Amino acid sequence: MGGVTIRPARARDLVADIARASGSPDAEARGLAENLVDANLTGHDSHGVSMLPLYLDMVRAGTMKLGASPSVVAETAATLTIDGNRGYGQTIMAQATDMLCAKAKTAGAAVLALRNTHHIGRIGAWAERAAGHGCASIFLVDVAGVDAKVAPHNGRDARLGTNPICLGFPRAGRPPVVADMATSRVAVGKVRVALNKGEPIAPGLVIDADGKESTDPATMFRPPMGALLTMGEHKGYALSAMLELFAGALAGGMTIATLTPSEKRIVNNCVAVAIDPAAFGTLDTMMAEADRLEAWLKASPPRGGDPVMLPGEPELAARRARADGLPVDAGTWKLLVDLAAAYGIDAGGYLA
Ligand code: NAD
Repeated sequence: MGGVTIRPARARDLVADIARASGSPDAEARGLAENLVDANLTGHDSHGVSMLPLYLDMVRAGTMKLGASPSVVAETAATLTIDGNRGYGQTIMAQATDMLCAKAKTAGAAVLALRNTHHIGRIGAWAERAAGHGCASIFLVDVAGVDAKVAPHNGRDARLGTNPICLGFPRAGRPPVVADMATSRVAVGKVRVALNKGEPIAPGLVIDADGKESTDPATMFRPPMGALLTMGEHKGYALSAMLELFAGALAGGMTIATLTPSEKRIVNNCVAVAIDPAAFGTLDTMMAEADRLEAWLKASPPRGGDPVMLPGEPELAARRARADGLPVDAGTWKLLVDLAAAYGIDAGGYLA
């Protein structure tokens, strides 16, 4: 079976139909489909439809609670503590982001502490959602309750998740600027995509169980397990440790030191800040300054073939390139075909 190209709308239908067949209520199934396919559209296949088989493993294991909604544990004028009740991260985070931004709009800025939710996917989606509410945002996230994947700087085995950080800045009449990244050199999903494609990974991303650099993606998936390295050497590690403290300790969901895998699940804890720019000055000045910064940066003479871009522009370019058809690699497509078949659905029928 080879790779396929599928229209985004049909990919959404396929994911939503599988999710509904697995027991998700309609709104959850559609929200999940929207989020996963959107990750593919932005070029992040690691956080797209390839996650569905993993999620449904957790549904079958009973660790993912279908149809869960967020509970507000505590609240002040500018803070919001939410328990995700082990629901789909996509469902919980969409609602939590909306609630956070509503608070920011009245208080000027607000802080969300989110715990006990499953994988919240591509974090940039939430910064884009916050920007849709007119808010600038910062998302600090840890990955716990799952085997560690990333070695601490100078360490030889995995002790951390790929702990992502994301910042979004809204712009008038234009897409927001969004910097969204794992603190490992790559997201683990990108190594999984290479494994599915049968391709080696670039050197310098992963060490094997002996602490030696490896280009074999299987190092991350078959024992003896290796580890991802942090981005920017000690700096990525320093950031990742702080994300554990903010998202894991401060948000009350526990760090990876406590929340080690006892069952099949991926927990994302998150501290997010939303800021209503209007609370700090005039929007006109702010937006004009963002335009000036962009022009200033892009005036730098190119060093090679690629132009200077703002963070978030690679994702916008991927959206343009993939608007009419998403490429799905052979390994991922086979997983989806098998998964769909388990729910009596013919995935091939969605290619038309
Ligand atoms: P990446 O390295 O592809 O991109 C990181 C950032 O750099 C992006 O904001 C991108 O727009 C920007 N960028 C890339 N090339 C650029 C260029 N030439 N000029 C200017 N900006 C540029 O991202 P990643 O670290 O591989 O992470 C991939 C995804 O994985 C992210 O969406 C992240 O949220 C997600 N993730 C999620 C979890 C989770 O547990 N939910 C964990 C880790 C990562």
